[in-house]
Amino acid sequence: MLLAALARRPQLVALASLTVDITMVVAKLLVGLLTGSLGILSEAVHSLLDSVASGFALLAVRTTAARRTWRRSWRASSSC
Ligand SMILES: [Zn+2]
Repeated sequence: MLLAALARRPQLVALASLTVDITMVVAKLLVGLLTGSLGILSEAVHSLLDSVASGFALLAVRTTAARRTWRRSWRASSSC
């Protein structure tokens, strides 16, 4: 039920993923700097790269949605 509802909102899912990734970067960076742990700092870099991937996913989903809207409006205007 929840998954079906989320499947209809891909932009929301991609945005949530990006938000979680950025939160993880900030949290790992803070803990890494406070503890001086190189392992946790490298995890922050890992999460930063995950954020970039999530950013591309959001961009792809948004581009697809914009194209769909453009095609729909183009068909509507050219059908008469
Ligand atoms: Zn990862």
